[in-house]
Amino acid sequence: MRLFDLHCDTLYECADKGQSLDSNDLHIDLARGLKFDCWAQVFAVWVPDSVRGEKAKRQCVRLLKMAHEEDKSNCSFHIVKSKSDFDIAFNNRRCAAILAVEGGAALAGSLETLDLLNEFHVKVITLTWNGSNELGHGCMSDCGDGLTPFGKEAVAKMEKLGIVPDVSHLNQTGFWDVIEETRGSVIASHTASNSVYSHCRNLTDSQFEAVRDKGGLVGLTLCGEHIGGQDFEALERHLYHFLSLDGEKTVAFGCDFDGFDLPGKWGGIQVMDEIYQYLQRKNYDNSLLFRLFFGNCYDFFTSV
Ligand SMILES: [Zn+2]
Repeated sequence: MRLFDLHCDTLYECADKGQSLDSNDLHIDLARGLKFDCWAQVFAVWVPDSVRGEKAKRQCVRLLKMAHEEDKSNCSFHIVKSKSDFDIAFNNRRCAAILAVEGGAALAGSLETLDLLNEFHVKVITLTWNGSNELGHGCMSDCGDGLTPFGKEAVAKMEKLGIVPDVSHLNQTGFWDVIEETRGSVIASHTASNSVYSHCRNLTDSQFEAVRDKGGLVGLTLCGEHIGGQDFEALERHLYHFLSLDGEKTVAFGCDFDGFDLPGKWGGIQVMDEIYQYLQRKNYDNSLLFRLFFGNCYDFFTSV
């Protein structure tokens, strides 16, 4: 089975807990991930809401540098800089690592920071985390406003640089601003369906359709708090619903490994094999499963 996952917080957790990426007791390490036939992983650098300004930027840059050091010194980890890097990674049994930043606070309120992030080959930026920042307001902030003027400029510049805006965590008004402001695709990297289980982190059907119509991706989270139960049945309900909205080419996984507490029996990234087999038993055919676990993301990232 091939796996392309849209979101994890493993870089932050490794740095925070002093663990190695090769082998650890977190949700993801290279030893487990590389057991899949091919593995591409979006590694997000998380910027907590408690950190703002230059400190947010510094913290983000420190983790991006750590990822690049890993890329230089670790023959199992290969950062995707351009399309051809997928082949290099897959042909040499390396993890194809896509760098992302979770929280636009990392810009420290300056558009020039986007150039710096681009030099680090950041391909995705989640505009906010749960709270507010210079770009806009997260779904758990008290503010219902949309993107700030700076947020709109940032999104426009991201598009020019080829950095994909990620609307996960954003509030409703901000979401629709992003849809209006962008010509290209947007993604919701780790979320679920609000029609199946109501939660402010989840997408309504019209939000899902808006991302779909822009040719974007919606990554389904494994987080029980968002899917309404930590079991495969709950997960499958969200998958089924998104697929019923013509989501065959839109839905993927954005598991959020190392971003929440996973029950011990799920372990970590290795659970994806069990989820695959569970869905096979539920009569999902192999070509659809290929799309969900790998193909949709691969097509997206090799075309943007
Ligand atoms: Zn998140």
